[in-house]
Amino acid sequence: MADNYEIITCPACGKIMKKVYLENQDFMVDICLDGCGGIWLDNRELKKLDEKAEDITPISEAKKDRDYIEVNKDVERECPLCHKPMVKNHVSAKQDITIDECYFCGGKFFDHSELEAMRNQYNSDDERLADVRRLAQESEKMQIILDRLIQEDSF
Ligand SMILES: [Zn+2]
Ligand SMILES: [Zn+2]
Repeated sequence: MADNYEIITCPACGKIMKKVYLENQDFMVDICLDGCGGIWLDNRELKKLDEKAEDITPISEAKKDRDYIEVNKDVERECPLCHKPMVKNHVSAKQDITIDECYFCGGKFFDHSELEAMRNQYNSDDERLADVRRLAQESEKMQIILDRLIQEDSF
């Protein structure tokens, strides 16, 4: 997919997002520098910067020394490109970081400091995905237990 040069409106606060060029990865990310500090990533961009060793200095540089507005993370958000509702997903089991994902274009929105927090928790992408998978399995198990309890109750 080609880099996206469209002007993006922040899905969390509605401000125009600013493009920041990542030299090492050779692509642009959209950051809500004038609003909430959120970061929008296109499909596949996350893989290039979710590990601690992958340099995101341009993002940190652009974001530092600014005040960001508070946003409600619990409300449903719309994809800034497809204008369809996004789905909230865990990207980390450790600190319960939830991002908004668009299932149509694969874009992802991180609230202020969530990307940084996620990167600091895992050494590799595989490690992170294994952890998320484990969390999904655990909640599946919980669901089975709950279903059983409900069944037993009805006897
Ligand atoms: Zn924003
Ligand atoms: Zn989308």
